[in-house]
Amino acid sequence: MHKTAVTHQLSPSSWSRFEECPRKYWLSRQRLPRKASMPASLGNAVHNSVEDICNLDVTDREDSEVGWLSKSMKEILDRNWEKEKQIFLSTPRHPSWKPQQISKARQGFVGALNILFSRSNHGKKKFSEVSIGNWKQIQSIVLLNEGKLISEDGKLIGRLDLLVDDLDEDGESKGWIVADLKTGKPPKDILNERVNRQLLFYRDLLKVTTPNHPKVSAEGWYSANQEIYPAEGESVLEDAIVAWAGMKLTLEPLQATPNSQSCGFCEFKAWCPTWWVARRDGILSDSTTFRDEVVKLIRFDDISGVALFERMSAIEDKGEVAESNVQFGAFIKDQALKQITHLLSTGYDGPMFLGSIRADGKVMHLGDWSEILKWSPLLKSIRED
Ligand code: SF4
Repeated sequence: MHKTAVTHQLSPSSWSRFEECPRKYWLSRQRLPRKASMPASLGNAVHNSVEDICNLDVTDREDSEVGWLSKSMKEILDRNWEKEKQIFLSTPRHPSWKPQQISKARQGFVGALNILFSRSNHGKKKFSEVSIGNWKQIQSIVLLNEGKLISEDGKLIGRLDLLVDDLDEDGESKGWIVADLKTGKPPKDILNERVNRQLLFYRDLLKVTTPNHPKVSAEGWYSANQEIYPAEGESVLEDAIVAWAGMKLTLEPLQATPNSQSCGFCEFKAWCPTWWVARRDGILSDSTTFRDEVVKLIRFDDISGVALFERMSAIEDKGEVAESNVQFGAFIKDQALKQITHLLSTGYDGPMFLGSIRADGKVMHLGDWSEILKWSPLLKSIRED
């Protein structure tokens, strides 16, 4: 039971988003149409598969049984992959699904299990030689998998991937390890600051919510190179509480801090007027191969997908735009063609946001990798609570 009802909660990802750009965080809380991405789906499939295999019920099976692991892994991953595909395709905004990426997910799953073997003193084993008896031992060191943590005041939340016993050479526990499974690119040397802080956050939240805990450490487990990266540092919970106070959801949008890194993959551009002003002012580049535009449609042929657009120029930071006389042609196909056709069928003739268009000389290309949305700068919260 929490002492006070809180209006918002801080998780490591919302904290990072808030730091990158407060407006990005504010927009992420407006329940705008979500966007799916292949790396996120791949990561989820691996995480859920590790969870499922750790929870596999093997209690009634013979300890000597071998040759079962690869088959179980395949069944589990195939099932989770299919689930992720359905979620991806039913997310309102999504690029095309890449079925071939299941091989990357498979590698991630194998990598994660190899780390789990090494942490349970089994070293790297041939999967065909892992017995049910070995697996029971491995399961016994997994204390928690996909556990939700919440601070007593309800302000801080986190989701643990794995909590495992930290074994010494004799197989005795000398503490706990909070392990966060990472399917992205491993760091060169040490964890970057944000990931390090995320892991420390889980460690510290676990400590304050678990009385009588032993020594707790935190590690990033990178499945791509099967390496373990320890997180180092003092408690981050005080900083988290300070950040929490600034993350209160206001009626007015929070400040936008455009820069190439934060804006690069920001999925809220159609609702944010500030990046377009930053483009006008040269803070963001307008000459990258993949770029975004705010345009007016001049001509469109829905059979060939050939369009002529006029770039709209930003007037000020409220999202108003004006004609510019700068025009460019574009070839539109696949998903982007469906989107523009749908938009026009609703009678819409206002400014459009073109996301991730590919520049080829003076001609632009839009396809499954792109998005065409209404230009909808959001200047007041649309949340009802
Ligand atoms: S587009 Fe850039 S400035 Fe706008 S919310 Fe996203 S990160 Fe912030």
